[in-house]
Amino acid sequence: MPRILVVDDDPNSRKIIELMLSSQGYALTFAENGRDAVSKAQAEEPDLILIDVLMPIMNGHEATRHLKADPRTRQIPVVALTALAFESDRQEALSVGCNGYLSKPFTRRELLEAVLGFLPSDAAPDARQALA
Ligand SMILES: [Mg+2]
Repeated sequence: MPRILVVDDDPNSRKIIELMLSSQGYALTFAENGRDAVSKAQAEEPDLILIDVLMPIMNGHEATRHLKADPRTRQIPVVALTALAFESDRQEALSVGCNGYLSKPFTRRELLEAVLGFLPSDAAPDARQALA
């Protein structure tokens, strides 16, 4: 089962993502800030990381820089989740090494499409069915 690390400081946002991805064939783990995300990513080596940008202690962009500088985690795709909706914000997410970008608020379909875009093609048949 593909493993996704969900990183957001807002418990409601984590819950929404959990509900959107429930019963889709993913194993989810959670982190509340960038520092927590980096250590969990190193320990768990998830298949995908969904990371909020604005967080205390360490923000999503700084965490992504750390993840992409570490041989243990640099191959893990990172999708930035942000309420910032300007083109410059998208560019910044990509410039720090994020592999994708999703603007909040996003629909369940948008989230599933983003997730499926980064996981192996034979993974998560349930999610593919949900989009069919
Ligand atoms: Mg936040």
